[in-house]
Amino acid sequence: MSKAAANSVAPTVDRQIQTKLAELAELISIQEYGPDGPPKDLKFREIERAGYQAAQLVAAKFETTVSQQHQQHFDGPQPCPQCGGECEAEGLAERQLLTRLGPVGLSEIKFHCNACRRSFFPSA
Ligand SMILES: [Zn+2]
Repeated sequence: MSKAAANSVAPTVDRQIQTKLAELAELISIQEYGPDGPPKDLKFREIERAGYQAAQLVAAKFETTVSQQHQQHFDGPQPCPQCGGECEAEGLAERQLLTRLGPVGLSEIKFHCNACRRSFFPSA
């Protein structure tokens, strides 16, 4: 695969997602530059900066949404990663992860093993 192809948006992206991305791009453009569009003297590096910020927002929303969906797999008792004993949930813990596109806030079910005296996140 060429470098250009590797950096392009995959052509297999679902049409509905492409439509939503186009709508999102329009909304962000309006927010950044107003309803009349970008100014004449706009440089591409500024467009790229705004695009990067949009990517950060999309990535953070995607990661938060999918990790919340993923939590359904940890509804009941979970085995301790150290001793294998069955452990009960302690509750939800808010965590801030630093991803490649910036910080993302996650809410994960935290478990505790009384035998090992340790807490763990089975979803991590
Ligand atoms: Zn244990």
